[in-house]
Amino acid sequence: MTEYLFPAPAVPTVPVAGERACFPVHRIYCVGRNYAEHAREMGKDPAREPPFFFLKPADTIVANGGVVFYPPRTANFHHEIELVVAIGKSGRQIPVDRALDHVFGYAVGNDYTRRDLQLAARDKGRPWDTGKACSAAITAIHPVSKVGHLERGRIWLAVNDQVRQQADVADLIWNVPETISELSTLFKLEPGDLIYTGTPAGVGAVRIGDVVSGGIDGLERLENRIGEDK
Ligand code: MN
Repeated sequence: MTEYLFPAPAVPTVPVAGERACFPVHRIYCVGRNYAEHAREMGKDPAREPPFFFLKPADTIVANGGVVFYPPRTANFHHEIELVVAIGKSGRQIPVDRALDHVFGYAVGNDYTRRDLQLAARDKGRPWDTGKACSAAITAIHPVSKVGHLERGRIWLAVNDQVRQQADVADLIWNVPETISELSTLFKLEPGDLIYTGTPAGVGAVRIGDVVSGGIDGLERLENRIGEDK
């Protein structure tokens, strides 16, 4: 058995609806600008260029109902509601027509972002990590065996019950099979990988004390309070 100098970090996990066993998180992949209206609000042309990806560390996972801590060095901390794909089967170079075989289930996620840091990095051609390596809120994962595949359905987000983002999952520029296929040409996908598929228009800032809720038809509702990072 491996000996560690100090206790090894715990594996981040996400509950699975209707199961005792939880989903151990391997990597968190995210898709940038995957809804046309959101690409425009970020000042970019939503022309259908291939999807691009970034990652959030696995330990940024925040459970449904948990507190999202307001991170340091930002004055513009944004919500991004997203459909999350949970990978259950490894693969590389996955063809589009086999991609859904690799999906274990779906969840509602929120890709929290230090927008000021992200945009400063973007405009200087620097990495996005300081903007993006913060809370990845997520509901329980709903297995495909129970909810099927989510090709359409309302996706929405509200802050203190005021709706800020609203669209349909069918509006994704790159749909779930296309996203999995493209990502698998760059990285070997593994069980435990999560893919945050991108956010629709209406992103905006949250403040300490806000209650952020959101959902996608067919999945449970995600709700988190923004708390002080003490
Ligand atoms: Mn995002």
